[in-house]
This record gives sequence, C-alpha cells and structure tokens, in this order.
Amino acid sequence: MANEDPALMERAKRARRIVKNPALYKVCMGCDSIVATKVHICPNCHSYRFESDEEFVVTQAKHLSSRAQHSVVAEDLF
Ligand SMILES: [Zn+2]
Repeated sequence: MANEDPALMERAKRARRIVKNPALYKVCMGCDSIVATKVHICPNCHSYRFESDEEFVVTQAKHLSSRAQHSVVAEDLF
C-alpha cells in the first residue's frame, strides 16, 4: 500500500491490537484516549475517570483508527 499514510497505518495497527485484547485497556472519560488498564491517571489530561467496558474500548479503538485523531493512544508511554 504505497499511498497509505504511515501514521494512519500505525494507528490501525494499534487499534487492531486493542480490539484483540480489550481487557488490557480502558478509555479516558476526560479526553477519549485509550490507555493501559494499569494506568491510574491519564497521561494526556490527568483525569482519573475511565471506562473499562470491553465493548466500549473496542468501539473507541475502531473510532480512533478510522479518522484523523485529536486524542492519543497512550499505551506506548508505559
Ligand atoms: Zn485523558
């Protein structure tokens, strides 16, 4: 796929990983970022409210991978 945006490809790859293992992730209620379950404070907005429902995480991962994102998938920060 020579004309694929590499950033978009990377995002799609992460999203697939999250979709396969939603139990390892949760969604920040402050900024919609997806973070690892073990994270207690969001690295982006310092919120401590998360939604860890697996279906919600999967939906959010697909949502983030399918558009130009304004929020960050922060799993690699940990
Ligand atoms: Zn946040």
